[in-house]
Amino acid sequence: MVLFVERAAVLGAGVMGARIAEVLALNNVNVTLRDVDQAALDRGMKTISGDLDGLVAFHAKKGDQAISEFEGRTGVSLTDEQKAKARSTLKPTYDAERAKRVLAKVKPTTTFDGFDKVDLVIEAAPENPELKKRIFKELVEKVPEHAVLATNTSTLSISDIAAALPANRRGRFLGVHFFNPPTTLPLVEVIPGIESRADIVEDVVNFLAPMRNHRYPILPVLVKEGPGFLVNRILAPMLAEAFACYEEGVAKPKDIDLAMQAGAGMPMGPLALADLIGLDVVLHAGESIRQQQGGVVPQRPTQIVKQLVAAGRLGQKSGRGFFDYGKKE
Ligand code: NAD
Repeated sequence: MVLFVERAAVLGAGVMGARIAEVLALNNVNVTLRDVDQAALDRGMKTISGDLDGLVAFHAKKGDQAISEFEGRTGVSLTDEQKAKARSTLKPTYDAERAKRVLAKVKPTTTFDGFDKVDLVIEAAPENPELKKRIFKELVEKVPEHAVLATNTSTLSISDIAAALPANRRGRFLGVHFFNPPTTLPLVEVIPGIESRADIVEDVVNFLAPMRNHRYPILPVLVKEGPGFLVNRILAPMLAEAFACYEEGVAKPKDIDLAMQAGAGMPMGPLALADLIGLDVVLHAGESIRQQQGGVVPQRPTQIVKQLVAAGRLGQKSGRGFFDYGKKE
C-alpha cells in the first residue's frame, strides 16, 4: 500500500503542533491545524509565519554569507565575477512568494471542518494519556476510515493510547515523534504499537523520508515501543547524571556543559540542552520513563561491550566496534 496524503491534520497548535504543520506544508501537504484554544491557534500561526520570514531572510543572504565566510577563512578576495557566480549558485530557493504559498497551505481551525477528507492526522496535544485517549475517541468519528492516525507523544505508550480506538482502527495508529523544533531537527521516531499494521508503518516512513525541514532532509527512524522510545531513553539518564553533577558541585554549571562539549563532542552541554527542551518537559519525561521502567533502574550489566572487546572489536582504533570502519584488524 502507498499512503497518499492530499490533506493532513495536526491537533494542537502549541510548541510542536504548529511546526509539525509547517514542515508538512513546506513539503506541499495541505494541513488543517486544529486547536481548542483560539489564542493558541493564533500564536501557532504567528510562529509559522515568523519561521517562514526567517527562512526567506536566511535564503536571501546565503550567497553573501558564503562569500564572506570563504573570504574570512582563506584571506582570498573574490572578484566581482566570482561573487556573482557564487550568488547565482546559491540563489534563494525560498522567497516571499513561496513562503506565502506555504503559509496558505495551513488552514487554522477550532472546528472539525474538512476532517472528513483528511488522510493523516498527527496529534500534538498536551502529554496527558486521558486527554489523548479522549481526543482519539472523538477524532475517529470525524475522519474517513482510511485515515492514518498518529500521536507525537514523547513518553506515553502507543499501544495504550491505541486502546481508546475501536479495534478495527488500531492497525492504522502509530507514534510519529518529531523533535523540538521540527523545522530544524530532522529526526522523526516512527513507533508502531502492538497492533499497528506493518504496511501502514512502512507507508508512514516512506511518506516522511522524502521531506525536508528548513535545513535538512527529514530522517524517519523505526523504533520499537518502550519507555522513552530511543532518544529520550538514552538522553534522560544522561541528563539525570548531569543534574546530579550540578547538585553535588562536581564542577561549575557552565563547566559541566563545556566539559561535555569539549570532552564528549556534544554540540551543546546537557544543562543548556535541558533548558532548551524546557525543564518541565525534562522532569515529566524523566519521571514517566522511570515509572514505566519500574522505579529506579540500576545499571544493567549488559554483555555487548564485553563481547566486542573479547572479539578484538575495540571501535575505530581496531577498525570495528559497533560499526565497521573498513580498515585495520
Ligand atoms: P503545548 O502545550 O505547547 O501545545 C499543546 C496544544 O494542544 C495547546 O495549544 C492546547 O490548547 C492544544 N490542545 C489541547 N487539547 C486539544 C484538543 N482536544 N484538540 C486540539 N488541540 C488541543 O504542547 P507541546 O510541547 O507542543 O507538546 C505536544 C505533544 O508533543 C506532547 O505529547 C509532547 O510530549 C510532545 N513533544 C513535545 C516536545 C517539546 O519539546 N515540547 C518534543 C517532542 C514531543
